[in-house]
Amino acid sequence: MEFNHVDFDTYFKHYPDENGYFGPYGGAYVSDELKAALQEITEAYFTICKSRKFIAELRRIRQEFQGRPTPISHLERLSNAIGNVQLYAKREDLNHTGAHKLNHCMGEALLAKYMGKKKVIAETGAGQHGVALATAAAYFGLECDIYMGAVDIRKQAPNVARMKILGANVIEVTEGLATLKEAVDAAFAAYSREYRDCIYCIGSVVGPHPFPMMVRDFQYVVGQEAREQFLAMTGELPDAITACVGGGSNSAGFFAGFLNDPVKIYGVEPLGRGSKLGDHAASLQYGSEGVMHGFNSIMLKDANGEPAPVYSVASGLDYPSSGPEHAFLHDLGRVTYDTVSDDEAIDAFFALSRMEGIIPAIESSHAVAHAIRLAKTMGRGSILINLSGRGDKDMDYVIERYGIR
Ligand SMILES: *Cc1c(COP(=O)(O)O)cnc(C)c1O
Repeated sequence: MEFNHVDFDTYFKHYPDENGYFGPYGGAYVSDELKAALQEITEAYFTICKSRKFIAELRRIRQEFQGRPTPISHLERLSNAIGNVQLYAKREDLNHTGAHKLNHCMGEALLAKYMGKKKVIAETGAGQHGVALATAAAYFGLECDIYMGAVDIRKQAPNVARMKILGANVIEVTEGLATLKEAVDAAFAAYSREYRDCIYCIGSVVGPHPFPMMVRDFQYVVGQEAREQFLAMTGELPDAITACVGGGSNSAGFFAGFLNDPVKIYGVEPLGRGSKLGDHAASLQYGSEGVMHGFNSIMLKDANGEPAPVYSVASGLDYPSSGPEHAFLHDLGRVTYDTVSDDEAIDAFFALSRMEGIIPAIESSHAVAHAIRLAKTMGRGSILINLSGRGDKDMDYVIERYGIR
């Protein structure tokens, strides 16, 4: 398939290029000291990802520890309630720890082990990435420093407890607004001081090269499994696939399995309370080109060109940019990026719970809501949703804020 002169047969050979660019997006906008550290990770990754031993070990871990492959479920009752379009879900909620994030954390921590590092460092916002990385660190016997804003520490007590039980050090960041942005800055500063003993493990397909590529590659297992399983189940490819986009990791890995197929691909951004700046986190829909957190992409900016405050009911989606590959796929027209509001996501959260017995994460509920909307316009065919995580973490909040619908 060809879109604007990019041939998806050979896409993975050319994107990203050796400097980490997907077209104009990506790169590594960091200090020279950090550049050297990132170069070390890049070189190790390129060696290790071709090593039979590394691949075999990761495959074994995915099967024995994570519970992969995760299944695809036919959402029969939900489909029937809407019409003739058949909806299916790739069940990343059934991964150990309840979401797709463990896919890249186990890869990153295994890389740290192969590089002879003693420690992994990361930032976390709502705590989901911190919990997944703390899990991986415990599995491999690595130290784990998680930088987290003081405000987020107060809001996310259960995840803070999980990280501590798993043996991680949760390091409180009190600068500025004391949320995710400051945690990212503090974690990168710690990494540039300590990189000889540790590696940085980012939480999505964002940040400087090689992270957007590496995290996508570790998540690619989702798209590969999904394509194979869907073909085996139905004898065909889905007509459309859909996934939510925060930083963009679950979607990047899922989409990668279908880029060269005649399948419509949709990325779903959070519209939050509406289209006014500050009320949403739909960066590809409303943002413009800029550099933040060490990479060039499409981002939401305030009046000073700094990352703008963003909002979504789904804390995993409220990031003011998206990975560089998404900005590129958006420009190419290969992926269509749409938005779903808080209210639509909550309706879908209850619909999937009531009709299928699956309580989805509010992040994933955005993809479910989008599929329901799409199904109503399609008339017939099939849609495969990437159900990125389970909603156990969201239940108290949903009941408190919305009641039982
Ligand atoms: C973190 C998270 C997301 C958003 O992150 P991406 O990098 O965009 O995938 C989506 N769903 C769940 C369940 C999450 O925990």
